[in-house]
Amino acid sequence: MADQTQAQAQNRRNVTVIGAGIVGLCCARTLQRRGCSVSVIDQGEPGQGTSYGNAGIFASGSVLPEGKPGLWKRVPGMLLDPLGPLTIRLGYLPQLTPWMLRFIANTTPRRVEEISQALSTIVLPGLRHYRELLDDIPSDQVPIRQQGCLYLYPNASDAAAAKNDNATRRRRGVALEILGPDEVRQLVPSIGPDVAGGALATQSGHATSPLALSQLLASRIRADGGTFVRAKVTGFAVGESGPTLVHTDQGDFPVEDLVIAAGAFSKPLAKALGNTVPLDTERGYHMMLPAPEVEVRVPMLISSLGFGITPMSDGLRLAGTVEFGGLTAAPNYARADALLTNARRLFPGLNDAGAERWMGHRPSMPDSLPVISRSSRFPHVFFAFGHGHLGLSLGAVTGRLVADLVQDRAAEIDAAPFRADRF
Ligand SMILES: Cc1cc2nc3c(=O)[nH]c(=O)nc-3n(C[C@H](O)[C@H](O)[C@H](O)COP(=O)(O)OP(=O)(O)OC[C@H]3O[C@@H](n4cnc5c(N)ncnc54)[C@H](O)[C@@H]3O)c2cc1C
Repeated sequence: MADQTQAQAQNRRNVTVIGAGIVGLCCARTLQRRGCSVSVIDQGEPGQGTSYGNAGIFASGSVLPEGKPGLWKRVPGMLLDPLGPLTIRLGYLPQLTPWMLRFIANTTPRRVEEISQALSTIVLPGLRHYRELLDDIPSDQVPIRQQGCLYLYPNASDAAAAKNDNATRRRRGVALEILGPDEVRQLVPSIGPDVAGGALATQSGHATSPLALSQLLASRIRADGGTFVRAKVTGFAVGESGPTLVHTDQGDFPVEDLVIAAGAFSKPLAKALGNTVPLDTERGYHMMLPAPEVEVRVPMLISSLGFGITPMSDGLRLAGTVEFGGLTAAPNYARADALLTNARRLFPGLNDAGAERWMGHRPSMPDSLPVISRSSRFPHVFFAFGHGHLGLSLGAVTGRLVADLVQDRAAEIDAAPFRADRF
């Protein structure tokens, strides 16, 4: 009986989540569905951070780390080309160097293999966890489609370069169909002459609106009694056993269990609560085309150009590229314009009337793995950030792992690779 009471108490925790991006919302909704009371604090409206503007792809084929062996050789070029797929702002280089050295240290064949193995445990079941999290909502109201994701090879050398990556994907259990140019044209009828082939990751999906997905989760959280506080978190009152209050610009809020899911802005919050983590940001851009006048049936990724093209409910989204420049520097929207230039090479007829440009901060760890972890110092503090290029894909599975940690349940996935103290 005592055990049962303890288990019930464990299931009904009062949990405060800092951050209403896709990761924080998935954590809050999972915990709520498991019986916890949840409160979410964010300085903005739900889903308006980085989760707003991503390429919307549930990338079940992304079982490879961002760092590839030999990447360091490209660093000088990154410094010289501000519009390239991967660039470093010169002024940010001194601050970035420790992170970049760790990033490069994670490109050895052994590390790439270990990271790929860890990624596959969370990436492959990513969409299944969304389906479970949203199974109380009629499917026609869920802005997710599972039509695959096309890795597009504009030329023969891109197709040849992808062979190793595709072999690794298959080895990890990613379902892939290799396509010739004509098969690509069936999926993407408007594509121009530049197409050598593609690989369709059939189990991938996409959000027809990443914002609508966040808003759907937020509305379910509210409908079931969860609360949202619009405030900027500035610090914590910390007692012997952990934080007792969250300080914000709108006053103090008492806390029992606390989840830090503040995306790229999580580093100082995690530090105040027990863990120093090498979190930085890879800034990315998008160009939203409300009337593109081209037909694209599936989302696609063009690795050599570093961006994706996704059909969404309000137009066609070109999104991606990496710019190391920190959290505070102004956007360089010429990078968003470069997305359009590159997309027009593939779709010569692309119409940009009414285009909207956006920049966001990927929360990136140097080993391409998120932090999904209990604090090393405080047993009631949990971390869920650092999802880099994969925060949308990994939102629901992260919620599941965090809920298991909060409720002290055995997890079906080994969370050791995602511990905050792994560095
Ligand atoms: C161009 C681009 C394309 C991408 N494409 C994809 C893709 O196709 N698929 C994919 O899986 N991922 C993609 N990503 C990555 C994905 O968007 C991110 O990993 C994900 O959005 C991170 O979610 P998050 O909830 O951790 O962070 P966010 O969405 O940034 O949410 C964090 C929240 O915390 C709040 N916050 C921060 N600090 C505080 C504070 N002190 N007080 C109160 N609130 C605070 C912020 O206001 C924000 O709402 C892409 C990213 C970019 C930039």
